[in-house]
Amino acid sequence: MTTVAAISAVPRPLLDLTFAELERELGASGLPPVHARALWRAAHQELNQNLAKENGFVPPLRRWLEQNLGDGKRFFLDAPTETDDIASADGLTRKFLLRLADDQTIETVLMSFKGRHTACLSTQAGCAMGCVFCATGQMGFVRHLRPGEIVAQVRHAQRALRSAGHDGLRNLVLMGMGEPLHNYEAVMTALEIISDRGGLNIGPSKITISTVGVVPGILRLAEEQRPYHLAVSLHGATEAERSALVPASARWPLAELIAACRTYFAQTGRRIFFEWTLIAGANDSPAQAGRLGKLLAGLDAHVNLIPLNPTGGFAGTPTSLDAAKAFQSILKSAGIPSTIRQRRGIDVAAGCGQLRAEKSRTDRAGK
Ligand code: SF4
Repeated sequence: MTTVAAISAVPRPLLDLTFAELERELGASGLPPVHARALWRAAHQELNQNLAKENGFVPPLRRWLEQNLGDGKRFFLDAPTETDDIASADGLTRKFLLRLADDQTIETVLMSFKGRHTACLSTQAGCAMGCVFCATGQMGFVRHLRPGEIVAQVRHAQRALRSAGHDGLRNLVLMGMGEPLHNYEAVMTALEIISDRGGLNIGPSKITISTVGVVPGILRLAEEQRPYHLAVSLHGATEAERSALVPASARWPLAELIAACRTYFAQTGRRIFFEWTLIAGANDSPAQAGRLGKLLAGLDAHVNLIPLNPTGGFAGTPTSLDAAKAFQSILKSAGIPSTIRQRRGIDVAAGCGQLRAEKSRTDRAGK
């Protein structure tokens, strides 16, 4: 039988705590808020990996850490092991494969452009959404990440930038492995931690949540007035075209998704970014561009056109630059602004889930 004592003995991840929760924890041991602030700064600003051995703390905080943080104690620090760190030939993209405590691996990508650094974070191990062109979708869902496992990716990327002598992260996109709105609570807690000004300090205006179209999550973001940017992956402008690429469309049909986007816009006044993976011969025709223009009419929309990153499990190929430009000009004449995104890091398998999929193929082949 599970006892209360056994439950309370389960170690808790320190990085799962918001600042208010950390303050309460330390307060319950008689430590004042100033100690919580010092610990928070060491964990989230100085990115200290060994808090229990930190000498800069006042004695009461040092004692609390010695008693409460570490193997077999009340708290532990998420510190994923980096199993791979691959840089693209142009040096602008770096991909980390990180091993979590239960041996699941996730990817974090660091992209640099004109001295500005953006990290692309994973929110789940695997993904339940099954988009056909996506290596993560092809592997299926494994589990949700905890807030601390999302925060730990930002700490990892920040440390990598610092040790390479670069400025810190400017932007975050939740566009890596997993569907962020399928792991809503953990993602919102992680973003509260990440955007805290006394810690990692990446403000909400620098953070984009990307969804494949989880309608209840979009409505909840609007209802709760969450201050982050929203990007919605469309890939098709009719139900038939979209559901061929995005199986989640069966659950949240296109009409329902666009209605949710209109509600989101009405309630927040925020521009919505729409992601469109351009696949040659599948969704890149002038007629499809025309349908997309009509679909988005009246919304404050910006479309990101992203030539496909090929994956082993999907036969599609990327649209040519000329066809992408033709698609873009039709959108423009419909009054919809768009950007053709450069394909980044092909040589480091930067599309989400590609490195993990490649590693497991190699590991299986090596057995
Ligand atoms: S594209 Fe995103 S939502 Fe779709 S399967 Fe991949 S990780 Fe999941």
